[in-house]
Parts: sequence; C-alpha cells; structure tokens
Amino acid sequence: MPIRVTIWNEFIHERENDAVRAIYPDGIHAAIAAALASADDVAVWCATLGETEHGLAAERLAATDVLIWWGHRAHAQVADAVVGRVAQRVWEGMGLIVLHSGHFSKIFKRLMGTPCALRWREAGERERLWTINPSHPITQGVGAAIELPNSEMYGEPFLVPEPLETVFVSWFEGGEVFRSGLTYRRGAGHIFYFAPGHETYPIYHHPAVQTVLRNAVRWAYNPAPAWTAVSLAPNRPIAEAPEPIEAKGAALHRPGEAGFR
Ligand code: ZN
Repeated sequence: MPIRVTIWNEFIHERENDAVRAIYPDGIHAAIAAALASADDVAVWCATLGETEHGLAAERLAATDVLIWWGHRAHAQVADAVVGRVAQRVWEGMGLIVLHSGHFSKIFKRLMGTPCALRWREAGERERLWTINPSHPITQGVGAAIELPNSEMYGEPFLVPEPLETVFVSWFEGGEVFRSGLTYRRGAGHIFYFAPGHETYPIYHHPAVQTVLRNAVRWAYNPAPAWTAVSLAPNRPIAEAPEPIEAKGAALHRPGEAGFR
C-alpha cells in the first residue's frame, strides 16, 4: 500500500497576490503534490483552510500516514478542534512535515510546547542549506548543500526544543544562520520541520527541495498500526497483570507460597 500523504495549505497568498499566483498558479499544495508525483510509493491528497473542517475531518486524518503543513497568514483561523485532532493523530503515529512559516502554526507550537519564534527578513537573499547529517534518510540525493538564490532569511535564535536531529543548517547572505531542517518525535509520530518555502520565491520548484520533501515523507512514515490508545491512562488491577514468564527449569515463587523467602 502506498504512503498516504495529505498536503494541507491555507491557500490564501496564491489567490490574493498576483506575484505568488504566477509562481504557484494552482497553489503551493499543487506544487508539492507535483514534487511527490514522481514517487510511486506515495498517494497524495490535498486539503485547504476554506474547506469544511479545513479538509481535515476525522476520516481524512485516519486515512493519512503523513501530513504536510503550509500556513502563514491564517494560523489563528485554524479551529482548535482540528488542531487537537491533528495532534492526536501525530501521537498515534501519523508523520508531520511542517514547512516554512508553519513554525508559527497552532499545531507546531502545540507539539513543540515553546513559542517557536525566530528572526526574519524578506530581502531576497541567497540561502545555502548545508547538509550537516549526510547519512540521514532525509538528505539522500541532496549533496553537500542546497543553494537558493533568493530566500527569506530565517535566523536564530529559533525558540524550539532541542531537536532529535539537526539535518540542515542554513547560512544567509546577510550573515545569519538557522537550523533549517530539524526532526522530532512526539508520541509515535515523526515530525520534520523544513524552513525554506517563502511564497514569493519558487522554492518548491527546486529539484533538491523536492528531493527533500520526498525523502521526508518516507522518513516520517510510521508503518506500525496507529497507537490509538496513546492518550488513555487506564487503571490496571493486579489481576490483569500479564502472566509472569518463568525461567526455564526454575519455579517462580510468590509471597505467601511455600518456598518463598
Ligand atoms: Zn515567508
């Protein structure tokens, strides 16, 4: 069965800004879907803010192995109930790839538990994403660095928890550095934050960026059955304890039984 990917996009800039529409005429989600189309082990679905329940009804999330998130202007419009539902699915094992300005999305802040603030500057600067973990599945086929001729500067300090792994570190023409590829695990869910993707630059058309997205989907996929009881904390009576495993050839004695000391 293919990896079932849902690409979520707030889909506002592309409809309201001619410059953005020229780069992404069908939306950023369509460009990401096209990037994933060359992966024959992936099946893609798209969802946007304006749809009922933002396109993220319980049935859709239950049928999603990896969710990709692009949002910027409308973080506050994302319903808390939907955010809670996405968080629950991540804990159950759904992968989550948060892109660019999604650092300030409700779902990312909730899963990180920190402000997720950063420094930024929109000046079309050159960005060089150094691959600092060349053996990581997400960096395969990318080479030593990804060069973006024009990018929005995202700079440190980035107020996120210390990551599980730092995969990319970016250098910007203006001098700043930024941890631009970070992995986390929350519950059974694998999370990847990938910083590039400002809407006025054609970043999701870049071949190496598309390679990262395909790699990230495969990395974030957790094939284990959904851990649906992840939020439950049931009382367990002692009578329900599993049977002890007895060492071969040795009798197991319990308090009160003959032979116990
Ligand atoms: Zn941006």
